[in-house]
Amino acid sequence: MTTAAPLPQAVPLLGLGLGELEAWAISQGQPGFRGRQLHDWIYAKGARSLAEISVLPKAWRQSLAHETSGAGGDPLGRSRELRRSVASDGTTKLLLGTADGLTLETVGIPSRDRLTVCVSSQVGCPMACRFCATGKGGLQRSLAVHEIVDQVLSVREVMDRRPSHVVFMGMGEPLLTIDSVLAAIHCLCTDLGMAQRRITVSTVGVPSTLPTLAERALERLGRAQFTLAVSLHAPDQALREQLIPTAHAYPLQALLHDCRRYVEITGRRVSFEYILLGGLNDHPRQAVALAALLRGFQSHVNLIPYNPIEEEDFQRPSPERVEAFRRVLQERHGAVSVRASRGLDEDAACGQLRRRHSG
Ligand code: SAH
Repeated sequence: MTTAAPLPQAVPLLGLGLGELEAWAISQGQPGFRGRQLHDWIYAKGARSLAEISVLPKAWRQSLAHETSGAGGDPLGRSRELRRSVASDGTTKLLLGTADGLTLETVGIPSRDRLTVCVSSQVGCPMACRFCATGKGGLQRSLAVHEIVDQVLSVREVMDRRPSHVVFMGMGEPLLTIDSVLAAIHCLCTDLGMAQRRITVSTVGVPSTLPTLAERALERLGRAQFTLAVSLHAPDQALREQLIPTAHAYPLQALLHDCRRYVEITGRRVSFEYILLGGLNDHPRQAVALAALLRGFQSHVNLIPYNPIEEEDFQRPSPERVEAFRRVLQERHGAVSVRASRGLDEDAACGQLRRRHSG
């Protein structure tokens, strides 16, 4: 087929907007309003397969099912749920299977007034941060738009509740796959009606990609209102390199310079994440150093007590130690929060469910 061929091969349909679905229906010899029906069933009703969309003519559904059966299955492009684990606090981790047989994790984190979905942007991750379970297995591939949006739909379906927030803090490094991350954000906002301000993209830093993210976000989304969270984890370059091997090629000052560029381009503040590893980066002296590093940078710092993973023997700091660090940072820097641990009893740390069930 030539590249000029219009949308007939535009499957998977998940990830397409209303106009694209209408164009696709028309290219299939159907009236344009079939696009509106598809949109309604894919996004509002959460259909899992074309066969379920009973408002569509049966003959059309059958011929499409026949055409696409050899090409990765149903044209909608939903993933399969392979495993589910629910913690006592309701945190629900799903292991999903892609059309090409890979597995990825997504987590629904409920509270009284929120349902946050922690989505993966890649299967695996090449960044190899030492405290991260995902990093132990390397990268398989980046996810496509439909595979990211599918995670939000899957959590909505399983938890029977509308997600209010999405954080790109599951498997993978979102800044290595900017286009699909932005296309997924576009779809979540336009087709699922989520507010961009309730979406967070978390990165450990990939050299020179932050200004690109800012510029493309403005191009693709019209405005960049999602939150950018940067995983800092250390107040100095030497310790950061110990914890994050890729930091070697991206000095802290260069990373912070790019954060400032991001703020200039988007007009949004940046948040920083700081994992607390007992005895390594949780000394009050390091809180002082962190405040000094961020001096003059209006930003929120989120402290994340380490979730133990099997492969490493880092220590989770005691609540007293976490509180002492928080207090010193708060006095000197201002906006600081501590992430409450959720679902610890069910392998809550990033990438753990998948590692446990792969082989
Ligand atoms: N690659 C991106 C997003 C995925 S990780 C990033 O690094 O930001 C999302 C967050 O979870 C990061 O802040 C990461 O440092 C943190 N994280 C990873 N493993 C963890 C663990 N074992 N305990 C606590 N936080 C962890």
